[in-house]
Amino acid sequence: MKKTFGIYCNKHHGTKNDKLCPKCTALLATVMTKMNRCPYGITKPICDRCEIQCFGEKQTKEFMEIMKSTGTGMFFKHPIMAIKHKMASMSVDYSKHEMEKRQKEKDKAKEKNAQEKAKAKEKAEKDK
Ligand code: SF4
Ligand SMILES: [Zn+2]
Repeated sequence: MKKTFGIYCNKHHGTKNDKLCPKCTALLATVMTKMNRCPYGITKPICDRCEIQCFGEKQTKEFMEIMKSTGTGMFFKHPIMAIKHKMASMSVDYSKHEMEKRQKEKDKAKEKNAQEKAKAKEKAEKDK
């Protein structure tokens, strides 16, 4: 995370050697604090895929900008980290897809169950 901020700050705020300007230092401190207190605990998703976005609107926007704009920079300077992050993002997407799939299956099963019950009830009333 610090490396990502460093790349961005070096490029956009004229700092050197992964050093951060006061604004980026403050943003990084907020992000790190929020992450340590993340309500998801060990199931924490990647922040840029999270629905809560706990950093607040302005800081989330700034954070996203840093994450997006350094995507390529990270890949050249720290390829292993960039790949790990990409894989983690893909795994979040995959989990989301699996959860949605399971939910759809559950909904379908419920609907089928309800239909069968209605049919059985109908039949029972006819047989009376
Ligand atoms: S943005 Fe979401 S995942 Fe990231 S620290 Fe906040 S709540 Fe946790
Ligand atoms: Zn900066």
